Amino acid sequence: MNSVIQKAHRIIIKVGSSLVTNDGRGLDHAAIARWAAQIAALRALGKQVVLVSSGAIAEGMLRLGFEQRPTDIHELQACAAVGQMGLAQIYETSFRAHALGTAQVLLTHADLADRERYLNARSTLTTLLRLGVVPIINENDTVVTDEIKFGDNDTLGALVANLIEADALIILTDQQGLYSADPRKDPAAVLIQHGRAGDPSLEAMAGGAGSSLGRGGMLTKILAARRAAKSGAHTVIAYGREAQVLERLAGGECIGTELSAQTGHLTARKQWMADHLHTVGQVVLDAGAVQKLTGEGKSLLPIGVIAVKGEFGRGAVITCINEQGEALARGICNYTSGETRRIMRKPSSEIEAILGFVEGKELIHRDNLVLV
Ligand code: GLU
Repeated sequence: MNSVIQKAHRIIIKVGSSLVTNDGRGLDHAAIARWAAQIAALRALGKQVVLVSSGAIAEGMLRLGFEQRPTDIHELQACAAVGQMGLAQIYETSFRAHALGTAQVLLTHADLADRERYLNARSTLTTLLRLGVVPIINENDTVVTDEIKFGDNDTLGALVANLIEADALIILTDQQGLYSADPRKDPAAVLIQHGRAGDPSLEAMAGGAGSSLGRGGMLTKILAARRAAKSGAHTVIAYGREAQVLERLAGGECIGTELSAQTGHLTARKQWMADHLHTVGQVVLDAGAVQKLTGEGKSLLPIGVIAVKGEFGRGAVITCINEQGEALARGICNYTSGETRRIMRKPSSEIEAILGFVEGKELIHRDNLVLV
């Protein structure tokens, strides 16, 4: 069996804070030079590579003299701003040695939630790739607060994979991959070499939180694989200090944990909706509407809605939940939250009498609806 990376043309590579900053000791110039050399080799094979790099906060902490990760959000943001300078500098220098240009792209969740900015980010990234440049992406930590953060770069890597329809996501980390149990506690734990992205049993194996330097633990990597698979991208989780790891993967060798995508591609618009980590409003559906949406692939009509949460305008992306509070779908709503409250539980034939106009007989048309 050959690694999925061998055939992948467009690849997102994510490197975590511990690797980039040598466990918080400072930017690991030698390691970064090795990845740059390997990425240059991948480019020479005709592959397109986008690098998602963490490490800004860890490097900023060191430069500013923090011994522990600050808890104050503005101190964290200050660390990110300082550390990002170091990242930009070292990547530019390391790739220059292989005659490759780099570009810094800092993204926030709001950039991807806004349709126009999402399309802009996509076009810029694909243009950079076409021009032979290696985009280096990080979250724009300086301007985001907790509620609107991607939170961790594993998730960001997956969203970028969705954004530019990458074939694969490689998450380089300080562990060999996913183990069946925590290898520090259970001597019988074995490395999972192959799995299906989205398989719930993997989430149970991954458990716990991340390191003190970065945000993502193994669980966020497994969830990132599930997210990346929605646009057809396979994920490999591998040890970043493994010799020639990227070139060997590209040569077909299986290293670490490979989680293959089985779902087909969503349409670009549905993908965009699925990628909303946060939505401004929710509608609660009765059991009949749940069945229509999830079982029969139908549109959502006002009659199936029993409650509306939050405030939203017409055309907003909202989440459909069941009475137990589980998110089922996301979609573009034809009515504002106030209008929805007035027409919920009513047949569509009464919309005009209630509101004085009709935007559509559906609250969310099935073309604008994606199951999550
Ligand atoms: N964006 C953060 C940084 O550069 C890292 C987030 C993460 O560790 O996943 O420090």
